[in-house]
Amino acid sequence: MTQIKRVAVIGGGIVGATAAFYLSQKNYEVDIYDDGVGQATSAAAGIICPWLSQRRNKEWYELASKGAAFYPKLMHDLNEPLSDSDIYQQVGTLVFKKNLNLLKKLEQLALKRRETAPEIGEIALLSPKEIKAKFPLYGLEESALFASGGARVDGSLLTKKLIDQAVSNGAHHYSEKVTLSHPNPTEYVISSMTQTKTYDTAILAVGAWLPGLLDPLGLEVDIRPQKGQLIQLHLQEDMSKWPVIMPDGEKDIIPFSNGKIIVGATHENDGGYDLTPTKEKLELMLEEAIELAPGLKNATITGIRVGTRAYTSDFAPFFGVVPNHPNLFAASGLGSSGLTSGPLIGRMLSQIVSGELTDLPLSDYPVEQYIKKYQ
Ligand SMILES: Cc1cc2nc3c(=O)[nH]c(=O)nc-3n(C[C@H](O)[C@H](O)[C@H](O)COP(=O)(O)OP(=O)(O)OC[C@H]3O[C@@H](n4cnc5c(N)ncnc54)[C@H](O)[C@@H]3O)c2cc1C
Repeated sequence: MTQIKRVAVIGGGIVGATAAFYLSQKNYEVDIYDDGVGQATSAAAGIICPWLSQRRNKEWYELASKGAAFYPKLMHDLNEPLSDSDIYQQVGTLVFKKNLNLLKKLEQLALKRRETAPEIGEIALLSPKEIKAKFPLYGLEESALFASGGARVDGSLLTKKLIDQAVSNGAHHYSEKVTLSHPNPTEYVISSMTQTKTYDTAILAVGAWLPGLLDPLGLEVDIRPQKGQLIQLHLQEDMSKWPVIMPDGEKDIIPFSNGKIIVGATHENDGGYDLTPTKEKLELMLEEAIELAPGLKNATITGIRVGTRAYTSDFAPFFGVVPNHPNLFAASGLGSSGLTSGPLIGRMLSQIVSGELTDLPLSDYPVEQYIKKYQ
């Protein structure tokens, strides 16, 4: 008889939830611990469109583009329809630049990238009139680049579905903050206010909170928090097929099928783990969005979301085995594209635990560069 192995997953954002879901489908008894406070995944805007980023890091692009391409498979594994889902939908993305010249350059980049990433879909430079046909709120006279493969995802609904399915496969989900200790070479002890349990294997998917979790093990982690705020609005419109709008700059506009429309987000490096909304920053973002889409004036504000992103000092994400801890696995540093790369990273963590080959080489995302013993 095959032996059931126990695994603890700390963190129930996109990485932890995906890892738990895939492990729960195999021969693993999974315990998920999630505090949930400040979670980046449930605060996220929801844009999946890495191909039009001008970021030059090859490993980042490989991870983000493969992460975007992985979404249809994830939806299939979750029995979620691809054509009409509140969780994930390929509605296309409209990207704006300061001038037509820059847009044309971006179009060339997109066409080149499509050779290896067909998921990018149809690429077209659209006139203001064509933009308005796709996004009726548009009020400017500028052109934009359209990529039909761009998508929007509701991070909160997605992690809920992943965790619910993991639980129906036998996993346990505890909404608790935990601490980690390592009293002897073969055991990891996970403690909360209500319980203490021992494991020989654990996945640490705690995003920006990894330094605090690993500190008791004498490990220093190169991760810093970044505060992100966004505004959630409601519009009495059928926006189910409207594309994601990415103007030049920080704020994006993401319409969802259920009348929800998101404007955001801020990138605040001096915000630490603070989760207090800042009125001036939110008002400014909304004003800028209204300039592009005057119809947003009629929208009702239904909520403010604040979350904490995790960044390494060179902005590169990492995942894999924690140095000198062969049964401890971690991922962090996903930054502002973690909803795009997170599901694939979560699945790769599940592959490492079960001894399978990973979708991407671990050496390209080296944990040992970011997690070190205190000197
Ligand atoms: C405002 C905002 C907008 C964003 N927009 C996008 C976007 O449009 N597209 C995109 O691709 N990415 C976006 N991102 C980035 C993306 O959301 C993150 O990179 C990604 O969600 C990180 O996932 P994670 O699982 O690593 O961490 P998280 O989602 O932060 O999850 C970590 C979880 O671990 C829990 N935890 C921490 N410590 C403990 C503990 N000791 N015990 C138990 N639980 C603990 C936390 O409470 C949290 O629930 C955005 C982020 C923000 C904040």
